[in-house]
Amino acid sequence: MTKGNLFVVSGPSGAGKSTICRLVRKMLKINLATSATTRKPRKGEVNGVDYYFLSIEEFEEKLRNGDFLEHAKVHENYYGTLKSEVENRLSNGENVILEIDVQGGLQVKEVYPEANMVFFKTPTLKELEKRLRGRKTDDEETIQLRLKNSLKELEFENKYDISIINYTVEKSCEELINIIKSKN
Ligand code: 5GP
Repeated sequence: MTKGNLFVVSGPSGAGKSTICRLVRKMLKINLATSATTRKPRKGEVNGVDYYFLSIEEFEEKLRNGDFLEHAKVHENYYGTLKSEVENRLSNGENVILEIDVQGGLQVKEVYPEANMVFFKTPTLKELEKRLRGRKTDDEETIQLRLKNSLKELEFENKYDISIINYTVEKSCEELINIIKSKN
């Protein structure tokens, strides 16, 4: 039985999830579980803060050891949530936010059926493309891959409890904060 509340936040990459989750986490002093990935760090990203950056071998070893609550291949890299980032915090009564893709989100829901599932999306697909390009962190091939995957992610929206359309960061933060507060 968990004491804290678990929030799973998913949606197309570029929809603004990370920015919003980071802000909300700071405002409410909630833990955003740090994920592991085999993707290379982007400029400015810090190991252990933004992600645990692992080699494919390291990731696969943890997978074999059963260390992951969920994992998925997203945009051709492995991503996963370590059980150690979630279990103790929930049993200590802390709230935890997981910002993960839809494949991972559904795996978490299997383990924690009481998880609160929140889906983020942009008002239009054009807007999503604009945001992905605006980040200036990815090359054209990666942008195309992310756009293609976004369409797939959108098909899973109906598996989530609540959808937030990200019109502005302020409004979306407020909506997520209201959802979190309503569960406490
Ligand atoms: P990015 O490479 O832009 O940081 O993240 C790419 C995608 O991977 C995002 O949709 C993000 O939500 C997802 N992601 C990040 N961490 C995890 C994780 O631990 N598990 C899963 N399944 N997806 C993740």
